[in-house]
Amino acid sequence: MKAMNIQFGEALRRYNTLALQARAQAFVDVGSDAELLAALAWARANQLPVLPLGEGSNVVLAGNIRALVVRQKTRGIQVLKADADTVTLRIAAGENWHALVRWTLEQGYFGLQNLALIPGTVGAAPIQNIGAYGVELQSCLLQVHARQIADDQRVTLASEDCAFDYRDSVFKHQLKDQLVITAVDLQLSLHPYVNITYPALGNYFSEHPRIENTPQAVFDAVVSIRSSKLPNPALLPNAGSFFKNPVLGQEQVNTLHTSFPALPAFPQRDGTVKLPAAWMIDHCGWKGFRRGDSGVHEQHALVLVNYGDGSGAQLLELANDIAASVENTFGVRLEIEPRVYGEPV
Ligand code: FAD
Ligand code: NAP
Repeated sequence: MKAMNIQFGEALRRYNTLALQARAQAFVDVGSDAELLAALAWARANQLPVLPLGEGSNVVLAGNIRALVVRQKTRGIQVLKADADTVTLRIAAGENWHALVRWTLEQGYFGLQNLALIPGTVGAAPIQNIGAYGVELQSCLLQVHARQIADDQRVTLASEDCAFDYRDSVFKHQLKDQLVITAVDLQLSLHPYVNITYPALGNYFSEHPRIENTPQAVFDAVVSIRSSKLPNPALLPNAGSFFKNPVLGQEQVNTLHTSFPALPAFPQRDGTVKLPAAWMIDHCGWKGFRRGDSGVHEQHALVLVNYGDGSGAQLLELANDIAASVENTFGVRLEIEPRVYGEPV
């Protein structure tokens, strides 16, 4: 194994898609299990917490990080087994999610096409059960493999042990900060199938009647819709949706509808109702708002952006003001989706 290349005081701006400036007390890239074990041992010996980082597309760095930041650079996709109908893959945590989705379609493995163009690594995907266009990771996830930060122990969790929910999992609760995910097993279909029940996708195919709705066409449609609506973090730094859509009881939504009859509402299978946070933020007049270098995207009220030198603290201040105004107007408290790290300096 090559010697560990730990960097001290590493600037993290290029490692998070909001391009927020912060420094890591210690920082290391790991490209193998042996390197991960060495990093965990080093953190224990130096009494530093470990912060696993993927591509930094769902974090807000509010200040310097007192931790060993361990960036996953492991690579590899293995076919574990295949039968007449399905294929099971084991994918290393450091693989890029979108590249995986594209590769699976090239192989004739179906199921991930609605999740195209979500930034980030495979290892981070289970953390919030990534979802888009009517599909969530949990629909094809079999197992999550990880190392325990405290004692290196290998852990394997079956999908039913991950407590997956809307943008949620056990990794945000009971197992928060305890594991580094090393690989994910997915089961995909060998038979082409599509799910275009999500309104924006259905509309796309209605508007393009000559395009047959194959899995590849769904992938292309998702890439096209997302590219037209969402700012590319490389051009305008952002972390995607900054707030989760609130999920409320039907009675509370009925009450809201007496004051806001136009508020869209999406009933869930369990009887709850999901409300679009973007609509509420837009209704409160925040879309396109800018304060210093922090702002709300002009086309998408759910996306907060860093126009240049905005800090994590400024961005969180704006987020708090937005949440307070939504709460004053609708009586609904919005929850921030990305994970916040570091104390404001
Ligand atoms: P990071 O931001 O690096 O980390 C996120 C969290 O996961 C951190 O708490 C980190 O500690 C933890 N983590 C990362 N890797 C590991 C690991 N190996 N082991 C343990 N913990 C780990 N999300 C969606 O669900 N749907 C979308 O449609 C979507 N669209 C987006 C669009 C844009 C433009 C952007 C910028 C973001 C979007 N996101 C979306 C959010 C983000 O892409 C996902 O949450 C993604 O899974 C984050 O991956 P990452 O590697 O960047 O994770
Ligand atoms: P959109 O299609 O304009 O819809 C707005 C919101 O309404 C979405 O957040 C969506 O919830 C909800 N919604 C719409 N139709 C729904 C239905 N039939 N049932 C349940 N909920 C419905 O959304 P968008 O902003 O352009 O994003 C498109 C997709 O990409 C969404 O799935 C969104 O979650 C995902 N996305 C996520 C992020 C992120 O960072 N998390 C960033 C960009 C896009 P859902 O969010 O539950 O789908």
